[in-house]
Amino acid sequence: MAKRTIVKIDEELCDGCGACISPCAEGALMLENGKAKVIKEELCDGAGVCLAVCPTGALSLEVREAPEFSEIAVEKHLAEQKRTYIPQNCFMCNASEEERYLIAVKHKGQSRWCCTRCLPRLIHG
Ligand code: SF4
Repeated sequence: MAKRTIVKIDEELCDGCGACISPCAEGALMLENGKAKVIKEELCDGAGVCLAVCPTGALSLEVREAPEFSEIAVEKHLAEQKRTYIPQNCFMCNASEEERYLIAVKHKGQSRWCCTRCLPRLIHG
């Protein structure tokens, strides 16, 4: 155990929409009884990708005592889950994350993925 950055879930704010589950490439999040949960803390790398897609602000990052992130545990977990990662696309030009970096953006409660090429157009109109 060591102090490190890890996701924190506010159960009062979580409405169980599930939007955060797929963007987590490590498969660290799941829904349980209608609330998002971190399955095992060693699966969460604290990158915070899930924060941007949460429409209710239930997700945040905090620094606290937690097991170290483990890539080996992630590989084992994903293999056990037979989880299929769902690649994302830019909502403006449909470019895949294989082609360009995608950034999560929010507008009027909607969460979308936008590629770096379209982002300036989104910002400046
Ligand atoms: S995206 Fe937010 S509201 Fe939806 S399940 Fe995840 S934590 Fe809960």
